[in-house]
Amino acid sequence: MNAVVAADFDIPSAGDVQQIAPGILWLRMPLPFALDHINLYLLEDGDGWVVVDCGLFIPKTVEVWERVFEKYLEGKSVNKVIVTHAHVDHIGASGWLCEHFSAPLYMTQKEYDWVSGFLQEQAQFSGDVKAERKAFYHRLGMSEKESNKLIELSANFVGLFSPLPEKINPLEDTQLITIGEHQWQVIVSEGHSVAHASLYCEALGLMISGDQVLPRISSNVSVGPHDPDGNPLLSWLTSLERLQSLPAETLVLPAHNFPFWGLRKRLDQLIEGHQVDLRKLIPACHEPKTIMQLVKVMYDRELTLFDLLLASGECLAHVHYLLHQGKLVRSLSSDGCYLYTTV
Ligand SMILES: [Zn+2]
Repeated sequence: MNAVVAADFDIPSAGDVQQIAPGILWLRMPLPFALDHINLYLLEDGDGWVVVDCGLFIPKTVEVWERVFEKYLEGKSVNKVIVTHAHVDHIGASGWLCEHFSAPLYMTQKEYDWVSGFLQEQAQFSGDVKAERKAFYHRLGMSEKESNKLIELSANFVGLFSPLPEKINPLEDTQLITIGEHQWQVIVSEGHSVAHASLYCEALGLMISGDQVLPRISSNVSVGPHDPDGNPLLSWLTSLERLQSLPAETLVLPAHNFPFWGLRKRLDQLIEGHQVDLRKLIPACHEPKTIMQLVKVMYDRELTLFDLLLASGECLAHVHYLLHQGKLVRSLSSDGCYLYTTV
């Protein structure tokens, strides 16, 4: 039996909303990617509304938001903008929304610092930064042509952000936020991003999970040039296990796909999916392999450039997990690529 049961709601079309519970609205924003949408939520908060996640800052998002303001806010304003994490599909339009409503932005400090650093680095993209990125991709066994394309791709994301507010209201793990008549607990997780905040309301039995738990797809867990020796998969698996303590009957409101029941079973599935990948990598490294060779072991399909960005980072995250466990060792080839070998 499938672990996940889709909740019985129609998917809202662009500019419309679907009521999940009184005062809890689900809406969708289009994304111009293979993953073509993000789910956002509006929570009624007395004489205003709280927005959770924002969409990209592109004309289409602004158009959809303006239709939603007109049709569904009942003349009330937005009094808080919360972003679960700083990936551009979640945070892109936040600066615009905050300015439009003079509303404060709530997110974890670590996410804000990470995205501020990323935007600053891109704005002053120096030769040193480019050389460092190229060296990172070269060590994965990537050609110069591929690494140049990936560097260019990352730079393109900058145009999808509205200017961020200079100050935020930092969210902390276990913090309680009162929204309307209910309290929502912040749950901070690491692995997909540096400090992702989910929101859990015990009284309503609801969790707004951001990218932390998705029903159909597995969130990307990547090692990238900003933390080239990191072990995010360990943090990610720990964060999934921690969520097992939430009630099994929680209705999960994720940022992609659809609202669903089956939280604990989905967490088991996600953890098992990573174990399957880890089990593939160990025998593949009986002969020394680069990350680019291991990407082919983990992903048995053609990859677009965007897929390659995610897949190479995710493959490296799995390899680092095994390195930290002492199951693989790393050496340097004569042409300066890292090779991984089973112990
Ligand atoms: Zn994300």
